[in-house]
Amino acid sequence: MASLTANSTIGDWLDDPRGAEALGGLLAASGSDPSSLTPVRALPLQQMVALSQGEMPQSVIDGLVRSVNGGEIPEDDAATGWQETIVVGRFDGKTIVVTGAASGIGQATASRIAREGGKVVAVDISAEKLEAFAQQAPAGSVVPVAADVTNEGDIDRVIAAVGGPIDGLANVAGVNDDFSPIHETSDAIWDRVIGINLTGVFKLTRAVVPGMLEAGKGAIVNVASEAGIRGNASGKAYTVSKHGVVGLTRSAAFMYAKQGIRVNAVAPGGVATGIPFPAHVSEEGSARLHPFQSAIPTVATAAQLAASITFLLSDDGVNINGAILPSDGGWSVQ
Ligand code: NAD
Repeated sequence: MASLTANSTIGDWLDDPRGAEALGGLLAASGSDPSSLTPVRALPLQQMVALSQGEMPQSVIDGLVRSVNGGEIPEDDAATGWQETIVVGRFDGKTIVVTGAASGIGQATASRIAREGGKVVAVDISAEKLEAFAQQAPAGSVVPVAADVTNEGDIDRVIAAVGGPIDGLANVAGVNDDFSPIHETSDAIWDRVIGINLTGVFKLTRAVVPGMLEAGKGAIVNVASEAGIRGNASGKAYTVSKHGVVGLTRSAAFMYAKQGIRVNAVAPGGVATGIPFPAHVSEEGSARLHPFQSAIPTVATAAQLAASITFLLSDDGVNINGAILPSDGGWSVQ
């Protein structure tokens, strides 16, 4: 029988008697059970670290792997589940600005573009994580620019760092809200979430479009959310911000359709990233949302979202403009 490793899917672990016992024990200790893992069965066990949003250290995964392999961590380079397939040269000669590039979906998108031949101007407010990402990318492929997408001066620095034509823009940076309904939503949460998720997208896009108009071409992909197309996926501020991103996408797609600029959005469902929640989460809002959020059919990896985003950014998206592409394992049709 093949060894269970961190690369084995959660489904493989649950279907194996030793794996089910080890994983079941871990879940029971936190008052949960294996049915809670149904949406993530297709993900490698390793993704539980990202999914736990800082709660589960790597040592827990290592401990699980050891517990079913006689105390050892077996060699395993045969990953299971979906594998990213690089399209060699798809972004050759292109310069793409990617925000939120220090983490999660933005980093997976930036990484894929760089590995497919593009030059990435990688933008994030987290300078340290951005630098670490740029260091391990193919030499010269990633230009890190530590910047806050809500700050005009920072946006000017991003444009200056590009220093030439911009072929594509992926607006990925975003933050969660606190799941609050409107009567509980503070000005601080509203201003932060609308500021980063919507105004930041507006401001950076406004700065990039003139160059694209001059060139007569360009592709922009905004990251919306399931919360941009329904009312029961998140709190007030996040839902409004992502509906705003959908409106911004459609309006820009219409306005520039005859000038060679395509503007689309990807609406992710659940994705295993480290996107943090604010310190205080609304109890009332969480309770109301819980049954709907727990109906998420699948949770994706950041690389799976990057596959959708890079498709729309690349010339393969040639005939697509103004689309809001759910990348959610089918959640949006439920
Ligand atoms: P993440 O937290 O892993 O990455 C977001 C990045 O944005 C971080 O590196 C953060 O530093 C950066 N950022 C935050 N504020 C910024 C600012 N003002 N300026 C520049 N950078 C800033 O989160 P993620 O899950 O990869 O989220 C990426 C996008 O996907 C977000 O727009 C999010 O709303 C959207 N999304 C995520 C999920 C999910 O389940 N993870 C679902 C739907 C939509």
